[in-house]
Amino acid sequence: MVYTGVLTKMQTEFLEPIQYYLVFENDFIHINQLLNKTIDLKRVGHQCLSCGLDRPIYRQGFCKTCFFNKPLAGDWIMRPELSTAHLGIEDRDLEYEKNVQLKPHIVYLANSSNVKVGVTRKSQVPTRWIDQGAHEAIEIVEAPNRYLAGITEVALKDFVADKTNWRTMLKNDIKDEDLLEWRHRLKSHIPEEALPYFIENNTETHISFPVSQYPEKPKSLNLNKTQQYSGKLVGIKGQYLIFEDNTVFNVRANEGLVVDLSI
Ligand SMILES: [Zn+2]
Repeated sequence: MVYTGVLTKMQTEFLEPIQYYLVFENDFIHINQLLNKTIDLKRVGHQCLSCGLDRPIYRQGFCKTCFFNKPLAGDWIMRPELSTAHLGIEDRDLEYEKNVQLKPHIVYLANSSNVKVGVTRKSQVPTRWIDQGAHEAIEIVEAPNRYLAGITEVALKDFVADKTNWRTMLKNDIKDEDLLEWRHRLKSHIPEEALPYFIENNTETHISFPVSQYPEKPKSLNLNKTQQYSGKLVGIKGQYLIFEDNTVFNVRANEGLVVDLSI
């Protein structure tokens, strides 16, 4: 059976364990059902997620032209503190930006390899945590817009990491942290403007991933260099497929790649 399609990040369902789906134009593939099976991935082209052309992918699934011009790739996506829609100031398309930025945003703590702070739209909880491979996470601030969440994240970065180590996450070399205790400790560093939105009472969310064998030395598969790869799927964590031979494939980092997936 061969499925052909453009890679976009795997869709997930928050169950025990997480359920993963690859959505192609004509197929909906339940990846959990492929565990312990040999699958074959082959690059057959590229398709920019914005313009749809077969051009090299620059970042986030976009070709270079789209990445630098389309509203959905503005700098405020990766750096929420640069959001300006709350001031009525346009970056690339004010209507689009208002629609995304002026919605409730969550500042959270997530533990995938270490505790880190992050920002996401409220509608993306717990999806964002699943995509990062976090085994535990907690919301600490619910801000009415992206800007306030962004400045909170920036202020907290002096006291907690904002990056994770993907190798540690995949090796499952993790420890449990008391995120309520972390939240309590960080409270005094939240900017005054965001303090009214501090969340006092909620609990940690725990996430379990479908992995039967963690890689000891994860090797990242790059389908732009190696056109084809075959291996036995032994786990899925974050947005990574994990294979028996220590190969790992980050689906999200390969958005826009057109592949043949053979089972
Ligand atoms: Zn494009």
